[in-house]
Amino acid sequence: MSLALPGGTIGLLGGGQLGRMTAMAARPLGLRVIVLDPDAQCAAAGVADHVIVGAFDDVASARELGQRADVVSYEIERIAPAALAAAAEGAPLRPGAGILEIIQDRAAQKRWLESNGFPIGPWRAATNAAELREAVAAMRSPCRVKAAHGGYDGRAQMRVVSQGDAEAAWEALGGRACVVEQELQLVSECSVLVARSPAGELKVHPPARNWHEDGILVRSVLPSGLPARVTAEAVALATDLATKLGVEGVLVVECFSVEDGRLLINELAPRPHNSYHHSGVACATGQFEQYVRALAGLPLGATTLVRPVALANLLGDLWRDGKPPAFERALAVPGVKLELYGKEPRPKRKVGHLMAAGDTVEQALERLERALRAMRELA
Ligand code: ATP
Ligand code: MG
Repeated sequence: MSLALPGGTIGLLGGGQLGRMTAMAARPLGLRVIVLDPDAQCAAAGVADHVIVGAFDDVASARELGQRADVVSYEIERIAPAALAAAAEGAPLRPGAGILEIIQDRAAQKRWLESNGFPIGPWRAATNAAELREAVAAMRSPCRVKAAHGGYDGRAQMRVVSQGDAEAAWEALGGRACVVEQELQLVSECSVLVARSPAGELKVHPPARNWHEDGILVRSVLPSGLPARVTAEAVALATDLATKLGVEGVLVVECFSVEDGRLLINELAPRPHNSYHHSGVACATGQFEQYVRALAGLPLGATTLVRPVALANLLGDLWRDGKPPAFERALAVPGVKLELYGKEPRPKRKVGHLMAAGDTVEQALERLERALRAMRELA
């Protein structure tokens, strides 16, 4: 059931930064990583053992990936079902295709969560402009209209404040199936990572507290510093979800704390997640190592907190006239670490992240802000 150490091969659909960091975590265990990505120069290309260049609906390439691997997984959600099935012909797919099918469609995901008794906010599905109008009318304004398929980092979603905006939202999203969510008053946001091995061993990381701006994660801290009741609830949700879904691999649950004290599920991700990029510094086992262990059928690592760490994403906007920010100044701040993905810097594009460790979360955050300021100062 477990992969041969050393020498076993993980096949990943997707070669973005998550694939890159997975490959980096697989190396010390003697495991090889092959990725499938439409871009030969994808972020994972520099570290993976091999890149199969193919689209995420390219059945032949996905089949080749499965044939060359001992286990197959995915680091992005928009994989065509036929490609997923083709990859699974050659090697076990973890997490299974049924899980991705539920998660990759926001409406299906919400239906599944509701029917299994998990707490989510008010929402409606819409598959045409009239349904969208009705859904917006039925909901208290403002609301969030999100394409059912394919959005990330707040893309393919819109804030709608009046009923009249529904039509414009339908057009702006390209006339595709979507969900309408009530905009909630958030007290806090957190996420929780759970890993489950094919043998059923399950380990949960401490929840991370997250802050978003324009739909993009801007800061995250471990530990969360949230009330014990909130973190216990998040951990219980993650445990229940991983068990009910039969996850083999990792699952991240994004949660909203709302004013009446409830903890609601925003969405699920069946893969490593941006909000745990600092887990390798903060915890005994980082998310990528945990993911590799779970995929490979190895014993899961301890998730104990080792030290507080704060995280900031680095976007392509930081580059001025093609010139990178002064990373060396950031690195001069104690406890700071830098991870770059080797991606071409473009506005709003995540190209790396900065982390700062401290004796406390407050110190970690203070160091992080200091490093970010220093980095941006003009030479
Ligand atoms: P990613 O895949 O990067 O997590 P996404 O594109 O799937 O992002 P969401 O997770 O749906 O986007 O939303 C991004 C952020 O926008 C949330 O973390 C939250 O801060 C805010 N947000 C989304 N939906 C709501 C809502 N219904 N009420 C209040 N805030 C919301
Ligand atoms: Mg999200």
